[in-house]
Amino acid sequence: MNRLEFLEKRYTCIHIGFLVIMMIHLELNNWIGKSDDISLNKFLLAVGLAIMGVKFLVIKKGLLPKYHLYNCFKIIELLYVGILIYQDQTVLLPEVLFYLLILFEIFSTHSNLKALFFYFIPLIISSLIMLGKEFFLLTNFIDMLFLIVSNIFFIYIVNSTIHEIEKNSDKYKELLIQTQKKNEELLKIKEHMELVNKELEQQKEEMRKTSESFRNHVAELFILKETSSYIGSILEIQQLLEMVCDMIMGILGVDTCSIIVYDEKYETLDFHIKSIYSHEVIENFKTSISNSSLQKRMKDKEILINNNCREEKYSFLQGRDVGSFVAVPLYKGNKSYGLILAEHTLENYFSTSNTDLFKAVSMQVAVAIENAKLYEQMEEMAARDGLTKVYNRMYLQRIMPEMIENAKLNYEPISIGIFDIDHFKVLNDTYGHLFGDEVLKAIAHLAQKKVEAYHGIVARYGGEEFVMIFPNVPLKEAAFIVEELRQEIEQFTLTKDDITAKITASFGVSGFPEVDGQNLLRTVDDAMYMSKRQGRNRVTVACVNENNVLNLNVMQ
Ligand code: GH3
Ligand code: MG
Ligand code: MG
Repeated sequence: MNRLEFLEKRYTCIHIGFLVIMMIHLELNNWIGKSDDISLNKFLLAVGLAIMGVKFLVIKKGLLPKYHLYNCFKIIELLYVGILIYQDQTVLLPEVLFYLLILFEIFSTHSNLKALFFYFIPLIISSLIMLGKEFFLLTNFIDMLFLIVSNIFFIYIVNSTIHEIEKNSDKYKELLIQTQKKNEELLKIKEHMELVNKELEQQKEEMRKTSESFRNHVAELFILKETSSYIGSILEIQQLLEMVCDMIMGILGVDTCSIIVYDEKYETLDFHIKSIYSHEVIENFKTSISNSSLQKRMKDKEILINNNCREEKYSFLQGRDVGSFVAVPLYKGNKSYGLILAEHTLENYFSTSNTDLFKAVSMQVAVAIENAKLYEQMEEMAARDGLTKVYNRMYLQRIMPEMIENAKLNYEPISIGIFDIDHFKVLNDTYGHLFGDEVLKAIAHLAQKKVEAYHGIVARYGGEEFVMIFPNVPLKEAAFIVEELRQEIEQFTLTKDDITAKITASFGVSGFPEVDGQNLLRTVDDAMYMSKRQGRNRVTVACVNENNVLNLNVMQ
């Protein structure tokens, strides 16, 4: 339904209402006896209602804008109201208002003031019909003129008022349009700002990632610098591993950092642990790790990051609140040395960006361990006698004072034994030096086996002289151990290239606290020479009596 139809529908309703009011007014006048013959008036009003009814139907069917029906209806309506105005041979004011109303309606849809003059033609025609010859009477003529002029004047005023209102409304409309435009612009700016914001967020995220990776690289460089300076300056692996644990704890903020090194010689694990957990928890961890799958990891070369730990799967995590861990194998070439294990309470704590850092650190640590092991081997080699492989005299002179001092500090006993092979010169002279060497090796081996069983050490003191140290073994017990060794050597037979030889040795034993620490070596030597003097192949125990006089007791 367009605007014309909408307005006309409304106007038609008003007309019907107007006609009904007029009908009621007519009936009321008749009822109170003011007017008697109302049949013509009633007929005219009924005609009016019929016209409105038809118009209503036409509007409903949507025919009004077609076939000039609008104009037809308006002419009919004006003719009809014109007849109503002159029905009593004189001008009736309410009906004039009705005519005016219709004109106003036409004007409100067309708003053409000039065209309005044509719409007074039906009034003139209807007054001609109703007044006949009297139309030309001067009074009627003046009435008509007055009617037309006053109507035009009224419409003119209404028109200018409406025009003013429309002008204002246009202004408001323009303002509204401008506001809408501004609104749209603001919306666009908002969308743009949102886009810019999104881009900024992305840039922020990228910056965060870059800064994180930068931080990691700085940390990596720092650790590398520190570890390499340590590797260059010291060969003390314990210190280095502790420093690396400290740095990983500090830089990555983990709860526990462990460096576990596998000791091939003793088949044990060495732990270097920095942790927020108690000593007991860490001890439990040490025992559980020996039986865990983590041991296999040491042979692996891949870094394992687990950011969602389940205790059932990893028994070595039990007792600690671990959300994430990273296990970094320590290896160089095909050699595995152990692993670095870092843990944190939070899940998803480690990212792949940490991998490079751990790789770099683990490589440095592996190199350091290898260096330390090589250094240990070199030291060991330097401390050993080339022929017999027991410790040499230099090492003995370094280690013995330390061991005696240690025993004194801890109020522990320490015993020293010495032996010299009997008539070794004769053996050399009889079977040659090579055979003599074999004898030295065999006897040194026997002594080493015996002494190491008591956590002691053996050193070659001179040509065919050997010193034994028994830490934390009292003198009496040491004397028996040495006697056992004497018997073992006595029973030992060396056979090589059809040569068979029996060997004996003479022994001396001394011990702290029976003998003062600094006199141990001297007294033990004396005891050994006593054994020689007493006929060889025996043990003599050195002891200082209450008068500070040395007693040498030969064991029988
Ligand atoms: P005693 O019972 O008094 O100890 O007599 P001995 O012959 O063992 O004592 P002596 O000190 O006279 O001889 C020690 C010999 O040990 C002399 C030396 O040639 C020999 N000797 C020292 N070092 C070695 C070595 O490395 N290999 C061999 N084959 N002989 C060595
Ligand atoms: Mg000898
Ligand atoms: Mg000798």
